[in-house]
Amino acid sequence: MVVIEDKLSLLRYNADAETHIRVDSARCRTCPHHVCTHICPAGCYTLSDDSEILLSYTGCLECGTCRVMCDQEAIDWNYPRGGFGVSLRYT
Ligand code: SF4
Ligand code: SF4
Repeated sequence: MVVIEDKLSLLRYNADAETHIRVDSARCRTCPHHVCTHICPAGCYTLSDDSEILLSYTGCLECGTCRVMCDQEAIDWNYPRGGFGVSLRYT
């Protein structure tokens, strides 16, 4: 059985100092479902105790799922700059 945590541990990252995903926190405050906290395979989105969305972009797998699933138009998503981001070839 494939365990996703085992696969994730094989990835390499070259994190950019600047995020490639920007979230409109004002829209998140009125979001009825916070689906991003459930669908990101890397767990990049979490909900703080005071109901703010926190994003940890450095672990992003660049799958684009959050961009597709957020129906509140709150996510501005781009690929990282060249040379930065995740390397999948080690999995
Ligand atoms: S689904 Fe979109 S609007 Fe809702 S909390 Fe996540 S990023 Fe914000
Ligand atoms: S692109 Fe994929 S891995 Fe990256 S934050 Fe969105 S859902 Fe998570």
